[in-house]
Amino acid sequence: MKLTGKEKSELIFEGFITAGLIYLLYLAVLIISDQLVEISPNLKDSIWIFKTSVTIGNVKILSYKMIFIVILIITGGIAVFWRLKRRYKQMQLRHVISELHYIAEGHYDHRIPFELSGDMSKVVNSIHVLVDSTVAAMDEERKIEQSKDELITNVSHDIRTPLTSIIGYLGLIEDKQYQNEEELLKYTHTAYIKAKQMKILVEDLFEYTKVRQHTTPLNLSEFDMVKLLDQLAADFELDAEKKGMTIEVLQGTPSIPMEADAEKIVRVFNNLISNALKYGVGGKKITIEAQKIGKEVIISVNNDGPEIPEESLNQLFDRFYRVEESRSQETGGTGLGLAIAQSIVTLHGGYIYARSDTHLTSFVLHLPLKQQSNEDRARN
Ligand code: ATP
Ligand code: MG
Repeated sequence: MKLTGKEKSELIFEGFITAGLIYLLYLAVLIISDQLVEISPNLKDSIWIFKTSVTIGNVKILSYKMIFIVILIITGGIAVFWRLKRRYKQMQLRHVISELHYIAEGHYDHRIPFELSGDMSKVVNSIHVLVDSTVAAMDEERKIEQSKDELITNVSHDIRTPLTSIIGYLGLIEDKQYQNEEELLKYTHTAYIKAKQMKILVEDLFEYTKVRQHTTPLNLSEFDMVKLLDQLAADFELDAEKKGMTIEVLQGTPSIPMEADAEKIVRVFNNLISNALKYGVGGKKITIEAQKIGKEVIISVNNDGPEIPEESLNQLFDRFYRVEESRSQETGGTGLGLAIAQSIVTLHGGYIYARSDTHLTSFVLHLPLKQQSNEDRARN
């Protein structure tokens, strides 16, 4: 710690004052003891005994005066040192307090810049840890706030678009601006489709906020993953055929018994397979592969459609993210599917990622075969 000029002179002044006071104290003690010796012959005798004890024969080993003076100088020195050290500690504390005030004024990246020793250094370290965790908590809070604002912006945008169409078509009907019944039906049909789109968005949002909370209970059951995938592939066969694609579960392990919330897991695969159908334009084949490795099952949903650009791969799982940004128009999705899928997989203690090259796009899921009970999950 660097002392200011004023503090240095304060210390020097303090040193002189203390030394002066000690000198006066010694002088007083000397005068009193001198008088005591004069009036008390016993004391004179004991001093004589002391003098002879530091004398061997007639040889003086040490002058008793010398011993006395040395002791006085040492105790005096210790007293001055102790006073100065105390004063220096007070100055340190003053510096620490003013640094703390500076941090508290909003300079949260500032840290107490000097090295301290002993308990003071422990206090300063604890303060630093406290400031760090407060700053981290504030950052987290800010991010949550920002992400809430983004959510509201995205939702209002996605609701406003179909809502504008609905109001537009209903307005035409209200003003009787249709030529015939056929046109009237066309308007009501479009308004109906748009209203359904809005319903899907609201339902997806509801699902998304539900699965985002890590305390959401899972409705656990035991099932065979291979059977479940076969069933899903069969359900999508017709849709795939319409798009000129095939869907196949690659035969590896004959059965993989596991425990999970089957309904939520089905939702994950429904999105992955319908994505492969929607975005695998120009592709011919969707394949699903499952294998059991150790205590987990690894499932990949692959399609041979267009490559997802490298920079988009990490963002796919962000809510409302769509690679081609033609949001909700052509394909009608909300951009929440993969965000929901990721939250569901995380709820099960697993993880999901995507990889893509010119030949193959794969979404790979790692899921534990066994689940913790809902109570254990809520506790962790
Ligand atoms: P939703 O699933 O909510 O109906 P969505 O399908 O647009 O809407 P996600 O499932 O989250 O939303 O997918 C996000 C984006 O990732 C898609 O818009 C698409 O651009 C891209 N994507 C997802 N799967 C694939 C795939 N198999 N091939 C290419 N792009 C994909
Ligand atoms: Mg989707």
